[in-house]
Amino acid sequence: MTQKLDLLGKDYYSRESNQRYWSISQYKRFRECEARALAELRGDWTDTRDNTALIIGNYVHSYFESKEAHTKFIDTNKSELISSRGATKGKLKSQFLVAEQMIEALKKDDNFMALYQGEKEVAVTGFLGGIEFKGKIDCLNVERGYFVDIKTTKGPVDDTVWNGKERVYWFEHYGYILQMAAYVKMLEDTYGRPFEPIIYAVTKETPSDTLAIRVQNINAMVAEIEELENYIVRLDAVKHGQEKAIPCQHCDYCRANKLTQRVMIY
Ligand SMILES: [Zn+2]
Repeated sequence: MTQKLDLLGKDYYSRESNQRYWSISQYKRFRECEARALAELRGDWTDTRDNTALIIGNYVHSYFESKEAHTKFIDTNKSELISSRGATKGKLKSQFLVAEQMIEALKKDDNFMALYQGEKEVAVTGFLGGIEFKGKIDCLNVERGYFVDIKTTKGPVDDTVWNGKERVYWFEHYGYILQMAAYVKMLEDTYGRPFEPIIYAVTKETPSDTLAIRVQNINAMVAEIEELENYIVRLDAVKHGQEKAIPCQHCDYCRANKLTQRVMIY
């Protein structure tokens, strides 16, 4: 007997859920390399990126979700999180200590503690460019019309990045304005009212810094959604095997599968 999957609940991060729904992180992955993203979705390729940053992020997130969620997270990831030998045996491995420091910084931030009130880890769905997306919101306050997304970052909080054309804030560069815009769209479709996104940044600097980024730039959010709409119909056809996936020719998957440029004329 096959167990019924809960694609927006306990199986939110499963391959089945990602096959059924688009998400902003999946969209970003397809924009990086269609061939690799498709192979990941089919289970033919496992992401080889170092997942330290991901674990640190989840450590912080689960702490503010609930005591049970945090205990469960630590339990599930024990072998990676907890040192099994030497003087630090039984303690958090050194590369994850920064997560504890970030939690303390957020707890000491009165503004964060006042804002981070509402329903935690809320799954939402909605249509962008006619294609169905899912999203998971860290903290949603429907009554007061805002939501909060915690972002762990190396810092500083107002860091800028060169994107090849201009200097932009780190949260623009990593697609977080697009993510916020997508959540706003899905929430407005669901609740019929506007929502203000708040990115709550916490840095890995010692000591950690925190900052509430209240995203009120409607034009920037509209532009992000419009750009997505320019790509998503074709990418959806790629995802469903109706269009050929284009290899980026540079990533680990493309190199491993000889999808890189084979001849160069100098
Ligand atoms: Zn590639």
